[in-house]
Amino acid sequence: MSGTKTNTGETLPVVNPATGELITTVPAASAGDVAAAAERAHRVFESGVWAGRSPRERAAVLLRLADLMERDAELLARLDSEDAGKPITECRTGDVPGAIESIRWFAEAADKVFGRVAPTGHESLGLVSREPVGVAAAILPWNYPLAMAAWKVGPALAAGNSLLLKPAEATPRSTLHLAALATEAGLPDGVLTVLPGLGSVTGAALARDPLVRALSFTGSTATGRRILMDAAETNFKRVSLEMGGKSPQVLMADALAYGDDLIDNMIEAAFLTMGQNCTAGSRVLVHDSIAEEVLHRFTTAAKGLVIGDPADARTQVGPLVSRTAFDRVAAAVDAARSAGAQVHTAGLPHGLPARGAYYPPTVLSRVPEDSDVLTKELFGPVVAVQTFTTEDEAVRMANATEYGLAASVWTRDLDTAVRLARGIEAGVVSVNAYSEGDITTPFGGWKQSGFGGAEKSSDAFEQWTRQKTIWIRTR
Ligand code: ADP
Repeated sequence: MSGTKTNTGETLPVVNPATGELITTVPAASAGDVAAAAERAHRVFESGVWAGRSPRERAAVLLRLADLMERDAELLARLDSEDAGKPITECRTGDVPGAIESIRWFAEAADKVFGRVAPTGHESLGLVSREPVGVAAAILPWNYPLAMAAWKVGPALAAGNSLLLKPAEATPRSTLHLAALATEAGLPDGVLTVLPGLGSVTGAALARDPLVRALSFTGSTATGRRILMDAAETNFKRVSLEMGGKSPQVLMADALAYGDDLIDNMIEAAFLTMGQNCTAGSRVLVHDSIAEEVLHRFTTAAKGLVIGDPADARTQVGPLVSRTAFDRVAAAVDAARSAGAQVHTAGLPHGLPARGAYYPPTVLSRVPEDSDVLTKELFGPVVAVQTFTTEDEAVRMANATEYGLAASVWTRDLDTAVRLARGIEAGVVSVNAYSEGDITTPFGGWKQSGFGGAEKSSDAFEQWTRQKTIWIRTR
């Protein structure tokens, strides 16, 4: 069965964060359900019903899955928008097409992963191949539910694994629908099993399961640490971690040459998915010669964003994922304000549902150096603006964080751009843009933002395969 399997009767509520209303409940997988699903996935892997098919045949099934996702694109967009509170336009134009592209790209890559022949000389033959790990697992975040599922499902299944997929508590429905589409596309039963559930129960059981050989996680740094310990205490499953960030947007003195394009990119970096984005550019570092003008233009643009019902195509800013998230963000901004920071925001428009978790786009300036908002990941629509005078100072400030996921630098000077891009400790540095690259470029963090293998690009196969050397003596 490609879908949910549960036997305890526990359920998870799915709440619309725009209204606070219950949408539905879904069955929650217990630790026993996880163990049973892993055993089944193992049997299915051993049977060769998927792993034993040629890569081209696997590709054909995954390409059909991509077509079916395209057929159901509007439904998939609506599910993520309702569960996570994401603006529907973002889901329609970003998450869903991106997810379809991921599945298609990895399907097409399935039969292009070559092994190697080692340069051993004539008396032997050293063959190095990439093999599926067997049972693999992925634990997903709630900010890009379908898109993150696709980043993992694509390469994991293309490589021939059986995959156990745990969506985040708040956002299980698009992943469940993805599994139904996979069945419709012809994926054999038990190759993809979606296990909704609590992180502390279902997630922890996956991290500790002895049959799971590789686990790919996207989420918070605290949970990543927990998972790594669980893996170490059990079977040393290979763990890949994609975690938080406190990404800088560095604007050199000539950055305003990019005009509205600069401001538009800054706004997207700061407020896409309400800033609940691991690559969010939550720190603006701006040369002091242009700081006043940038702050003015940036805050004006932030105040002009359309806040409202995520189901409305015009909405640019929806609610945060939950009231808990709202409370955390509000407390951090209050603390910064009390410590002397200036808070720039237009506030919320009238008429939003009282129980909606809406927090307005907020820009902070003159933030005291020891403030949490400069170092801790807030995961909300809050950006701190700081100034610098020299390039060295900019690099030092950019790197003054335990995280190292992404950064953007803005300058017309090529030498400066390259020096900054080289000097900033981050897995992805974009120049004169806010971008994580596209499906062809690897994505992964440095420092406490992650390790263990890239997402996207052909490098993603390293997370989902293990290397084997076959040594043949020739005579
Ligand atoms: P957030 O705090 O933003 O919800 P988490 O890192 O807790 O971020 O959540 C990301 C994913 O990790 C979710 O699918 C969640 O259920 C899962 N998770 C949470 N705690 C654990 C845990 N102890 N072990 C495994 N997975 C977990």
